Amino acid sequence: MRVIREFDPWSNPLCTCPPKYTLNPITGCGHKCVYCYITSYIKDAFNPRVKKDIVYNTERDLRRLSPGSVIAISYSSDPYSPPEDKEVVMRPILRLMKNYGMNVLIATKSNLVTRDIDILENMNAVVSISITTLDRELARVIEPNAPPPEKRLETLSHLVQNGIPVSLRIDPIIPFLTDNMDGIEKLIKEGVDIGVRHIVVSIYKAKPDNYRRLTQACPWIEDKLHLLYYDRGRILYGYRYPPEDYRRMILTKVKMITKKYSVKLGFNVCREGFNLDDPGVYCDASHLLRT
Ligand code: SF4
Repeated sequence: MRVIREFDPWSNPLCTCPPKYTLNPITGCGHKCVYCYITSYIKDAFNPRVKKDIVYNTERDLRRLSPGSVIAISYSSDPYSPPEDKEVVMRPILRLMKNYGMNVLIATKSNLVTRDIDILENMNAVVSISITTLDRELARVIEPNAPPPEKRLETLSHLVQNGIPVSLRIDPIIPFLTDNMDGIEKLIKEGVDIGVRHIVVSIYKAKPDNYRRLTQACPWIEDKLHLLYYDRGRILYGYRYPPEDYRRMILTKVKMITKKYSVKLGFNVCREGFNLDDPGVYCDASHLLRT
């Protein structure tokens, strides 16, 4: 079975990114974010396991592709989630991507990506780092196994200092938990000070299992969240969304903050069903690849 496949965002037409390929070296993810939706698609998702013969199979699939193809690693797990710290597959995979002339988009919450800077700086790659909040305690509750927010900021900084293009994903914004504009502004300012030039924002989309985990972890928001998602919200392509007026209000405010800090800061929303994006920039940060 192929390990590099055409990216199909679970057939969700709200995804507006350009076509590309995707590779998930790990099945599942060890960061165990309470809001994560992969548990709806992947069995035993929080028990991450490296795919069998992944390096060999990656090279087999790379032979089919043209140099310059865009490959996202990964969109249904974090490629630097445990067990990557012990069973290293990203280094040989990145070397292969480089040797085959591929363009690579990495999405992670882990500082472990800095281990591979020596390879990344010699290839065409962009790294997106997700930070949902700067509140260390809250991050520990909602992203129990992911590195704390300050480590992720440090990671952005290391990457920028080494000339690797980065994107900051404030993803997801969770109503009544992380939708405080002061906190978001602080995060954007920290990112801009580091040298971030692209920000992606999305509002939490509920699936029954991630909603259950989220409200168990943060019971103080349950009543308000239920009202927003179940009484006022609606289902779009398999996910329960808050009403559009709430999403527009939050995302427009965030966009205004990005403009306050830098006119050069590209802004995208992700799978919202309306367009607040800056022209010429993409949610997957592929516009930051060298042409
Ligand atoms: S890092 Fe991403 S894939 Fe991993 S558990 Fe968190 S949200 Fe899910």
